[in-house]
Amino acid sequence: MGAEPNITGITRGGTAWIPQFAVALDEGKCIGCGRCYKVCPRDVLTIVQRAVDDVDFDDDDDDDDDDSDNSFMTLTNPMDCIGCEACSRVCPKACFTHEALPVAA
Ligand code: SF4
Ligand code: SF4
Repeated sequence: MGAEPNITGITRGGTAWIPQFAVALDEGKCIGCGRCYKVCPRDVLTIVQRAVDDVDFDDDDDDDDDDSDNSFMTLTNPMDCIGCEACSRVCPKACFTHEALPVAA
């Protein structure tokens, strides 16, 4: 099978743009602040509680987390992503990885 072309969008003014789809979310870096969830226009993300065993109870000051570190965001519905990158614009921990992609088979 040949390589499919990446999905291309177009603005109202007629300018082409390449959507950058969210393909990964580093759950280890995520502080569970929920900023990405609030701005995502699609049903792509779900917040999950960390298992009690995973919660870091000793405050060893190795980070500057100020949010709910006992939960993290997950990419639960990546096929619904439109590649707008709003999630990365607001994420304070650079958790997301984006890629231009063809339509999924
Ligand atoms: S790129 Fe846009 S649609 Fe995709 S997860 Fe991020 S905010 Fe949601
Ligand atoms: S904005 Fe970043 S740190 Fe906050 S919940 Fe989303 S992925 Fe996690």
